Amino acid sequence: MKHRPLVLIVEDEPSIAELIAVNLQHGGFDVVLAQDSVSAQRELEAVLPDVILLDWMLPGQSGLSLARNWRKQERSKSIPILMLTARGDEPDKVAGLDAGADDYITKPFSTQELLARIRAVLRRRAPEAASDRVAVGALVLDASTHRTTFQAQELKLGPTEFKLLHYLMTHAERVHSRSSLLDKVWGDHVFIEERTVDVHVKRLRESLGVAGCMIETVRGAGYRLTSNAAMLSARPAAANAGA
Ligand code: CA
Repeated sequence: MKHRPLVLIVEDEPSIAELIAVNLQHGGFDVVLAQDSVSAQRELEAVLPDVILLDWMLPGQSGLSLARNWRKQERSKSIPILMLTARGDEPDKVAGLDAGADDYITKPFSTQELLARIRAVLRRRAPEAASDRVAVGALVLDASTHRTTFQAQELKLGPTEFKLLHYLMTHAERVHSRSSLLDKVWGDHVFIEERTVDVHVKRLRESLGVAGCMIETVRGAGYRLTSNAAMLSARPAAANAGA
């Protein structure tokens, strides 16, 4: 059930890239390798990684400039980036963090340190992965037991609805476009239409019953899960009819 986080390793030195790849695979990660900015961009477009390990010095576009670009793009802006820098390059580290990197690690580094840093950025960027239980108003979801309750009543959700709700609950009160939900919930969405999101939101609302009104449609923008509506849930269920 637990998936192996995918790490995109962008490193032009094949021996270093291989060494990192082997160690990460050993440490419980899946890896994808890219030797330059062009192939890195291609890999990122193919599948969203959970974390990016980005070498500072690359042929062509530098790691710094890549990090800056990725931070600007909706699809990649929240992926944790760990920069690899040369020893003692203090100004580089600062520039890397300014460009949107989450952390940096100085070469040469130990495998243990690298793994620890990767786990740390994953935890910081994705608190939902670390904490199994999330609550919004009276709605509670436990990812470890796959149970969802509203006002202590258990709800039955399909796997996609569960995943969708989990994402909305861990990013509550924010509006999510259909395409960003496809990215975050479905992952690689090249062959999935945006209408798919509407279908699953509809099913999710039905499964949530009274709490279905917590998922708001934001006209022309997407969907939002809000706890404000949870207060309305004290009203009879009939009040939600016709929604
Ligand atoms: Ca390099």
